Amino acid sequence: MIETIIGIDLGTTNSEVAIVRDGRVEVIEVAPGIRILPSVVGVADDGSLLIGEAARNQYVLHPERSVRSIKRRMGEFTAVHMAGKDYSPQEISAMILRRLREIAEAHIGATVSKAVITVPAYFSDAQRQATREAGEIAGLEVMRIINEPTAAALAYESCHHGAHKALVYDLGGGTFDVSVVNLESAVVEVLASHGNNHLGGDDFDLQLVAFAVAHLQTKHDIDVRDNAVAMARLQRAAEAAKITLSDQPYATLSEEFLAEKDGVPVHLSLEIARDEYEEMIEPFVAETIEAVHVALSGAGLTVSAINEILLVGGATRTPLVQRRLEQELGLQPRADVDPDLCVAMGAAIQAAVIAGGQAPTVLVDVTPYTFGTSAMGSFNGDIYPYCFVPLIRKNTPIPVSRSEAFCTVYDGQSRVDVNVYQGEDPDALNNIEIGRFTIAGLRDAPAGNPLITTFSLDVNGILQVTSREKESGLVHSITIDNAIGRFAGDKLLAARERIDELFDDQDAGPERAGAEGGGSGDGVDGRRLRIEASALIEKAERLLASAGAEDAEDLVNGIEAVKDLLAGSEGELKSAMDALADLLYYLDA
Ligand code: AMP
Repeated sequence: MIETIIGIDLGTTNSEVAIVRDGRVEVIEVAPGIRILPSVVGVADDGSLLIGEAARNQYVLHPERSVRSIKRRMGEFTAVHMAGKDYSPQEISAMILRRLREIAEAHIGATVSKAVITVPAYFSDAQRQATREAGEIAGLEVMRIINEPTAAALAYESCHHGAHKALVYDLGGGTFDVSVVNLESAVVEVLASHGNNHLGGDDFDLQLVAFAVAHLQTKHDIDVRDNAVAMARLQRAAEAAKITLSDQPYATLSEEFLAEKDGVPVHLSLEIARDEYEEMIEPFVAETIEAVHVALSGAGLTVSAINEILLVGGATRTPLVQRRLEQELGLQPRADVDPDLCVAMGAAIQAAVIAGGQAPTVLVDVTPYTFGTSAMGSFNGDIYPYCFVPLIRKNTPIPVSRSEAFCTVYDGQSRVDVNVYQGEDPDALNNIEIGRFTIAGLRDAPAGNPLITTFSLDVNGILQVTSREKESGLVHSITIDNAIGRFAGDKLLAARERIDELFDDQDAGPERAGAEGGGSGDGVDGRRLRIEASALIEKAERLLASAGAEDAEDLVNGIEAVKDLLAGSEGELKSAMDALADLLYYLDA
């Protein structure tokens, strides 16, 4: 049997491991249902090593015994302190790599001794060498170090499309890179790379937090910036709202009992429209677009030389990012491979090729068509009632649900016709109409009354279109069976086969997860969890003495919640601990 070579994305914040098996790329679960391992290492009270989620949780309690973002220090001749000992950056990275190796071994049921590891395109020789050494320390022969944009191009099968040039745009939580790559007969060459090591989706969250803080100031005359607990809660709510705004036209930042003003509780309920949010994050997105131009000029190319844009990193799910790239380069960016996993997938593909296998196909189920509706808008300079508004774009992975807000156009408008089209043409009438309905009985309101239209497409190709009057909740919807199949002609069979395969996968999923569920994941068994809980309580109690009145109350509640659940189920205890750990994190900061 040929030995499996694993592919590893060794990231600043998160890492993943993937393999190719039976011609399929699999990103391996590190715990049931989770395929992302936080790149954090720590030493527990009892001296045992913690890697991943457990280490990240303990970071709050014991930063002196934990290390994160080690990737930023690779290649430096420096000592990293952890639990009273010094380590090289290679050794810390090796701990993460070793854990990933063990996870892969448990999954495959065989020893693993070889790997392909990815690094950013801008990594120097010293940083690459350090990464190679980390692999060796972890007991892995590093068959190849490949560039992250190269791995992404492999995962997107970009290399199969003949000689061309691609722009790989990678926006994560805290880092941004853009690379221009040349692809020719399966050889990927990075022509230029540019970026900012401190720009990412986390900056978007901070904008929403500032928005909420300003709202609390004007509406409730309260400044929560010194209230660590409230700020921590706002940050979580902001990230959730940000993710909602990727698919929905509105999101609500809602936190009950966020703070207190003169003994009266202050509740936050603040709706934000996608347009407002996009205005806030526009400067960050503009900075990334500038970097795109720097990378292009570094490669000696103009915009028109780029044939494809490949998206990498969770924050590329932001519609404004995709739209701005499309405007700037005149191309719809590709988002058909999971942006969080594509680098690991590409590493696994490279590994399979080195092992002598065939380059596999990344199977993702995507819609082959664009679906949308029509609205009044400007068309070639004229006002036209049938401007096509795409909601679900071609090549979007399914199932998918997307919403947009539309407004009534005249005062007192009581009904709106919703037409559903499949096609790409900006003039909706040139597309295929696949359904229509009328939503009638709208409230008597001036023009601009918002309606939210949602398109949901499932794996069976069933499209559900719903329109809801935002203020009244009045709803009307239709279901279009076989929206994909109906006009697919000879593509019908292929789509079915893809869907069958998807179901086969799903059937296999839970069993596999179940089999692995017995494993300890990050070693957080019941006993360890309770030891951690006690340590957390101890730390919280220490902090109580110096906390302000409001923080103290939150702390006491958090401590009580953990204490109450010490003898309870692990799941509940874990959530109470996470809440308390979050509190401590911000009180400590
Ligand atoms: P990564 O470092 O690639 O894992 O990306 C993480 C970043 O992506 C974080 O800032 C997340 O909040 C962000 N993110 C994840 N999902 C979405 C989404 N659907 N829309 C916008 N940002 C997202």
